[in-house]
Amino acid sequence: MKPFSKEKLVEDLKNIGVKKGDILHLKVSMRAIGKVEGGADTLLQALIEAVGEEGTLVSDAFINVFALPLSNEDSKKIADDKTPSYAGVFANKMIQHPKSFRSKHPIQKFSAIGAKAEEYCTKHNDKTGGYALLDFMMDDDAKNLTIGGAVAGVGTTHVAIERLGFVRQIINKGVNYKADNGEIKFAKVDWNGGCGDGFRNFIPLYYEKGGILNSGKIGNSETILTSMNKTIEIEMDKLKEDNSFFFCSNPACYSCRMSWNHSDKNKIKFVWAWLKKNYKGISFNRFKIIYKSILKKK
Ligand SMILES: [Zn+2]
Repeated sequence: MKPFSKEKLVEDLKNIGVKKGDILHLKVSMRAIGKVEGGADTLLQALIEAVGEEGTLVSDAFINVFALPLSNEDSKKIADDKTPSYAGVFANKMIQHPKSFRSKHPIQKFSAIGAKAEEYCTKHNDKTGGYALLDFMMDDDAKNLTIGGAVAGVGTTHVAIERLGFVRQIINKGVNYKADNGEIKFAKVDWNGGCGDGFRNFIPLYYEKGGILNSGKIGNSETILTSMNKTIEIEMDKLKEDNSFFFCSNPACYSCRMSWNHSDKNKIKFVWAWLKKNYKGISFNRFKIIYKSILKKK
């Protein structure tokens, strides 16, 4: 099959309802789109063209954190605005773009291009929450564009969970980073996070309750354009009624089964499922040893 051109991607973006001046939170799976002439760079150019100079693009571009206390080796890894993200090829193209800004937040570093990029990235810093940049976007009635069915939801679920005050086991991880004045500082994870697999549970509800502005295809990929203010409203309504709705169905998922105050925390059930997934034909004695070590480690 012929690779997708920039012109074709711009046309797809217009067909799904992306307009000049849009503020878009992007979640992108390049693999789902299929072959693109020039790869992720071309998709980024197409997006910039579709929202125009008055528009803004924002991508998650978070960085790795390390177990505490930091090992000697990890303590030498100093994060800054150019640190690559684990969020995939597209996120890293955003970071490398000459007109992009990066959140001043030490860890949850979004990358942004366009009219509001500098404002959002400056306001999102070591004094605000990990996902505060999404709050700023919602104040401007931004939209989310999720390209790829396997991508973890539409981004607002994290904010809904924080607003509802759900409590989770502290994530004991952090990183050293270079502040704007050149000083080396330390930042620790102080937000909940959660399992992205479960966030997709909300997608049928977005359709049912008016969260979806439009759906269609970008290249080969299933894509949804959502209103961030609407999806967070749907998520908060649902989570008030069922606080476990964002849990995935994997019995061996530590995050969903064990880590929240309202997880069912059935240790034996969890460890058994975890072992079945990770070890085959295990003896009972070995089971006991690993059972203890997993629960200690987590
Ligand atoms: Zn899970």
